[in-house]
Amino acid sequence: MATGTFPAVFVSHGSPTLILEQDSPGRAFLSALGQRLGRPTAILAVSAHWMTRRPMVSTAVAPETIHDFYGFPDALYRMTYPAPGAPELAQRAAALLTEAGLTAGTDPSQGLDHGAWVPLRLMYPDADIPVAQVSILPGQGGGVHLALGRALAPLRQEGVLILASGGAVHNLRHFRFGGEGLPPWAADFAGWLDTVTTTGDVEAVARWETAPAATLAHPSDDHFLPLAVAMGAGIGPGGERPHGERLHGGFEHGSLGMHAYAFRAAGDQ
Ligand code: ZN
Repeated sequence: MATGTFPAVFVSHGSPTLILEQDSPGRAFLSALGQRLGRPTAILAVSAHWMTRRPMVSTAVAPETIHDFYGFPDALYRMTYPAPGAPELAQRAAALLTEAGLTAGTDPSQGLDHGAWVPLRLMYPDADIPVAQVSILPGQGGGVHLALGRALAPLRQEGVLILASGGAVHNLRHFRFGGEGLPPWAADFAGWLDTVTTTGDVEAVARWETAPAATLAHPSDDHFLPLAVAMGAGIGPGGERPHGERLHGGFEHGSLGMHAYAFRAAGDQ
């Protein structure tokens, strides 16, 4: 798909070292995803790692690569993703959010955090597609993030890829580098996630904290909320349920869920 309407996509970005892990199925999936989706006119990234109290959009002209992780191999700190910014798209996104009652601010200095640049470097390694980033609002719930995505949905018809990046199952206390063996709670939550995404069950995502093993799968909500944004961006203009498709599944480092989903509206061309 080179032009036209893009799905909204949720990806799990895994460990910051994902980009170095040549044998990672999640890395292989992301490396093929850009070609599979085609080339958007611009990308609006929604990452778990930019957390604010009200919606913010980055209007940076040349967003810096933020190395927002500690104690990892030097090679990671040398990597950059020098994509141009997308200040016009950012202003439009802020206006759409504000129109929807989610009063948004803009930030000309915010760069790309690793939740955005690690998947983007794998998906679109040439770094020649303009990127703007939108924040998430921890503690404000699934419903608010569905609404945030829904407000941004018109951008999909303008060739913009809404790329939400978090983690399907993300409990770092249970992170085991290179670990095997899937804990039952991680499988339970991922099973619920597969069902609610592929059936477009936005009501279930709005109250996701009541899902099986939700507090074990997500001790904090930041890596789940981008999923709600992507799903919201697939809601139809009349409120129709999104069509969800699972693009990838599986776990790495024990319980780290690497699932990815695409969301479209019924009327998408
Ligand atoms: Zn993360």
